[in-house]
Amino acid sequence: MTDAPAAPVRVGVLALQGDFEEHANMLRATGAEAVEVRTLAQLQSVDGLVIPGGESTTIARLLLAFDLMEPLRELIAEGLPVWGTCAGAILLADAAPGLDRPSIGGLGMTIDRNAFGTQVDSFETDLTIDGVEGGPFHAVFIRAPVITEVHDGTEATARLEDGRIVAARSGRLMATCFHPEITDDHRLHAAFVELVQDAVTEEAVA
Ligand code: GLN
Repeated sequence: MTDAPAAPVRVGVLALQGDFEEHANMLRATGAEAVEVRTLAQLQSVDGLVIPGGESTTIARLLLAFDLMEPLRELIAEGLPVWGTCAGAILLADAAPGLDRPSIGGLGMTIDRNAFGTQVDSFETDLTIDGVEGGPFHAVFIRAPVITEVHDGTEATARLEDGRIVAARSGRLMATCFHPEITDDHRLHAAFVELVQDAVTEEAVA
């Protein structure tokens, strides 16, 4: 062991549709290398992946069209850390009844698309998130989903005041129903980068 700083982890942002640029900027601000992922080679080159907000139906279609759906499922099964925000959270849920294509899956949870109604019903609120220190997180919800049930070891990590689940985690998979990439709070991106760093370290000693 030396005290030399570890090389920055390489975190991909799925860049088929949605607000991938904002995520890439936030990841860079935390010290990670961020790359846009549109091809299998790019997907296979990353240590972790963010699936951004956007339109889950469109992203699911494009994943199939670009032949990325199966490879991504396999990488998740092999332990690739993945964080889905909003549409990305819908795609990571193993049960997403409102999606007209199969989800990627991986996270043991059921998620309800557009649970707050239409775009007009977007809102902002402060959340306490397990594992995020330093006070409440200002969360922006835009045509957001709600996690209606967690199972198979998935933990709810944030809830609205009425108890509805809006963030969850299981192993190396994270889901948030809101958009941390459009605030200037880097704590969730930093938490994901740390998860990716831990995964890289674990693989290296395995
Ligand atoms: N309503 C979108 C969907 O169902 C998600 C919205 C978002 O990502 N901001 O995919």
